[in-house]
Amino acid sequence: MINIKYHKVPQSRVSDVDFNNLPFGKEFTDHMFIAEYDGEKWGNFKIQPYGPLLLSPSLSCMHYGQAIFEGMKVYRTHKDEVLAFRPLENHQRMNASAVRMCMPELSEEVFMEGLQALVNLDKEWVPHIENTSLYLRPFMIATDDFLGVSASKTYMFIIYGCTVGPYYTKPIKVKVETDYIRACKGGVGEAKTAGNYAAAMYATRIAISEGFNAVLWTDALEHKYVEELGTSNIFAVSGNKIITPETKDTILKGITRMSIITLARTMGYEVEERPLTVDEIFDKYASGALDELFATGTAATVTSICQLNHLNREILLPVKEDGVAVTLKNRLENIKRGKAEDVFEWTFKIFPTNIEKVMSSEGV
Ligand SMILES: *Cc1c(COP(=O)(O)O)cnc(C)c1O
Repeated sequence: MINIKYHKVPQSRVSDVDFNNLPFGKEFTDHMFIAEYDGEKWGNFKIQPYGPLLLSPSLSCMHYGQAIFEGMKVYRTHKDEVLAFRPLENHQRMNASAVRMCMPELSEEVFMEGLQALVNLDKEWVPHIENTSLYLRPFMIATDDFLGVSASKTYMFIIYGCTVGPYYTKPIKVKVETDYIRACKGGVGEAKTAGNYAAAMYATRIAISEGFNAVLWTDALEHKYVEELGTSNIFAVSGNKIITPETKDTILKGITRMSIITLARTMGYEVEERPLTVDEIFDKYASGALDELFATGTAATVTSICQLNHLNREILLPVKEDGVAVTLKNRLENIKRGKAEDVFEWTFKIFPTNIEKVMSSEGV
């Protein structure tokens, strides 16, 4: 067990929140979990009120971008249990990102105990209302106060949370990107690192100004193979086949992606993880063999694509209410929310701990 120091808010803000009208990414919970790396080990574990941090202007993450993050959700079931969805996968992926960015790995103990302590303390923020959830954002930044370009020695790891409403997404219009790139072979596309998102904003802004919702990233060399859709993974449905690009160093290993592949296979679909070209998608559409296109990620789970444009070509897909994307989304959501049997053991139950007892035993 890690030793966490608690500094609680005098009064929770939870009663001020209108849970029936939740915006995405604005209702932060009362507390956050913090751990510090001193160059050798993680320590100084604490939970304190959510709020601004006092940071030096020469903090290395602000200049050289050693910053990685995760995104995951916690749900309240109809039995009033609190379930995290595949948190151990987030822990592993965070460590993979850390290694790529020359940052220290975190033990499962620190990641999971920090997460559970925070969720327990702020459990009233895991909403009771249908289709809502608590979004958790674990992240790590380089904290050396030194203006040299080299890997920082010290780091900070923080987990904070945000109550989120039903993420209803309309089917989206997508532009195949053929000028800009998100990631290239040998690069950092596989890491959930801040710079990847900064690098993607310009092309996305252009696409939005042209009436699209997102860009479909293609390979850096030829703009021929599809890779990812904005910050989510992409799937194409053709009859009994579901095709998605295999993950490699330019593609993030989405946990939703992985879960959807498993679910689709158990439903009898043949899932192919292989190179998928823009031409193959358009050829399938031309021959009437393209049934659906969809994207996966933690925020919206599954989002249908209703339009895809590549230079002068266009695909228009009607949204099927009983289609593969909708069916897979519902199946996965039901598992996450404890409404369907968790046959794959994906959910992680957060057991209530007696915070007051933990605190008094530490003499805080
Ligand atoms: C986070 C992310 C995804 C989706 O991953 P999930 O684990 O399913 O949320 C996909 N692509 C990129 C670039 C991402 O940052």
